[in-house]
Amino acid sequence: MCTKNPYRVLLYYKYVPIDNTETFKEEHRTLCEQLGLRGRIIVAAEGINGTVSGTKAQTDAYVKALHADPRFADMPFKIDEATEHAFPKLKVKVKREIVNLNLSDDIDPNILSGKRLSPEQFYEALQDDDCIVIDGRNDYEYDIGHFRGAIRPNVKTFREFPDWIRENLQPYKHKKVLTYCTGGIRCEKLSGLLLREGFTDVSQLDGGIVTYGKHPEVQGKRYDGKCYVFDNRISVPVNQTEDVVVGKCYHCGKPEDRYVNCANPECHLQHICCDACERKYRRSCSDACRAHPRNRYELETSGHAHS
Ligand SMILES: [Zn+2]
Ligand SMILES: [Zn+2]
Repeated sequence: MCTKNPYRVLLYYKYVPIDNTETFKEEHRTLCEQLGLRGRIIVAAEGINGTVSGTKAQTDAYVKALHADPRFADMPFKIDEATEHAFPKLKVKVKREIVNLNLSDDIDPNILSGKRLSPEQFYEALQDDDCIVIDGRNDYEYDIGHFRGAIRPNVKTFREFPDWIRENLQPYKHKKVLTYCTGGIRCEKLSGLLLREGFTDVSQLDGGIVTYGKHPEVQGKRYDGKCYVFDNRISVPVNQTEDVVVGKCYHCGKPEDRYVNCANPECHLQHICCDACERKYRRSCSDACRAHPRNRYELETSGHAHS
């Protein structure tokens, strides 16, 4: 009964038509509240996308409830163990898309999407020198970890991808293209977009980096650094065979893959920071933030002295 990881973090999505999204949202929120889950869930007419945390019993009950709905009966859940909740509260929202690509002419991944590769097939495909690998995430996610040799997208949000592709990837149109993202959801549309832009051979990593890192044989090989996640954990390990640090401290440039938020509550900039620089700069991104009267560094670290 006693375990050091009594919590679970679930990552899941599915592109499937949902009618009456407002009603669905309200009912879904009630379900999550009754179960005691926390997290972020996006509902759209095109599907559902969520990350939630709770105890094992709570998350088991949630998976069971969703799998009992014919629309989500085959929806895969990526499951991580955790020591505590990964979110401060529960948010359930209705949006136009479950990940925002913001195309004027939208893509339905059930109609147009790249080939799906299992972790073994993706690992195999990575060995081919003739293919190019495109990271389907944002630049700050790439900066703490990515597949070896992958192209870094110069984008801050997923919405910037269509322009970035048109401006940067034209020379690769007839190459074999591999895409990947955290859990697979962004690649569903990104790979379809590449096909629509005239790329001919596009494949995506099914289940994303998190599934790849858990595969018993592949074990996250050829992925360097950590995987950025959008919850309190900030990053999770991937490669079980090698530990390569690819990030660099914002202040001193030393290898580091830990993101922190600037201690100035009016700034909050997320930056990579080593332990020494965190103390030296009071976890701040600039001199102005360091000297800010409401800088939270001392306040947040003083508690640690007693524990
Ligand atoms: Zn440093
Ligand atoms: Zn700052």
